[in-house]
Amino acid sequence: MKRRDFLGSAGGAALLAGCGQQDSAATADAVSTPQETIHWKLVTTWPRNFPGLGTGANNLARLIGEMSGGRLQIKVFGAGELVPPMEVFGAVMQGTAEMGHGAAYYWKGKIETAQFFSAVPFGLTAQEMNAWLMYGGGMELWREVYAPFGVIPVMAGNSGVQMAGWFNREINRVEDLRGLKMRIPGLGGEVLSRAGGVPVQIAGGELFTALQTGVIDATEWVGPYNDLALGLHKAAKYYYYPGWHEPGTTLEALLNREAFAALPGDLQHIVINACHVVNGDMLAEYTARNNAALKTLVEEHAVDVRRLPDKVLERLRALSDEVVAELAGEDALSGKVYESFSRFREQVTAWSDISERAYLNVRGS
Ligand code: CA
Repeated sequence: MKRRDFLGSAGGAALLAGCGQQDSAATADAVSTPQETIHWKLVTTWPRNFPGLGTGANNLARLIGEMSGGRLQIKVFGAGELVPPMEVFGAVMQGTAEMGHGAAYYWKGKIETAQFFSAVPFGLTAQEMNAWLMYGGGMELWREVYAPFGVIPVMAGNSGVQMAGWFNREINRVEDLRGLKMRIPGLGGEVLSRAGGVPVQIAGGELFTALQTGVIDATEWVGPYNDLALGLHKAAKYYYYPGWHEPGTTLEALLNREAFAALPGDLQHIVINACHVVNGDMLAEYTARNNAALKTLVEEHAVDVRRLPDKVLERLRALSDEVVAELAGEDALSGKVYESFSRFREQVTAWSDISERAYLNVRGS
């Protein structure tokens, strides 16, 4: 028991407060008995096994099981199986599940500032989000934002740049956005609203029907890989880019703070690092599968892929700056997050201009 406690704290976390599970397991024949198996529930906002997102959550659970030699076993629940998709945060907060997987902008009704940590319109790309979170102070702020809820966030996936979406109306001018009923979450939805559109919140599983029956005129979802899987090309005429509203959406793992604190130190490291593995893995998967799916959409389904006109993008950009700046004024913490995010975006843009952007331009096709 002593040896095990030592190993636990030597894991470096020093986060162990109250460890009832360990004590009960260690009271009996601690020398010969293998360490106890801990069972956690992981609730997700995604349909079970949904390509990229749902399978990312599955990967996370599998990795944690494997890396811990089976000591920490995670059972994954798809959207609605244990709790509805939009109640994932609450379920982790209350301890109904020890862990969750989703995206921070889904919680804007509860925590408006959370939106900075998933996707900001005209904000950071995947590579830049990772840089801000890991080395630009973003992760510390994210933890601070979730702390009052007893929830710890960890970056656990990224979709890369998304598509602007599927439209049954041509967008040739700013005026074409007026009255457009579009499924678009988060800050992007607010921007659309100011452009005269009508943002609608609909879960992924219901998108196809809503678009096909005309309940909505347009929807964004993710990118070619996921959009092809939902069959959205069968319900809309035009596929617009770029995904101005989600330039590199970070997916998150949510940890119930008490459950996490009760883990031995080495398992805490395994959980955090498994999330980071999935964070990188998912981006690689999206990058590979999006280009394959785009080819299928264009060559096999003759999808009409269109770029949003410059004038429309300019208007959306101006409205986005307005919306994001207003969010900063909500409270002191939002202001702090906005300040950090904006400063980082400004700096990284100067660098990206002469690195990624410059390179992609000269590489050409
Ligand atoms: Ca999206």
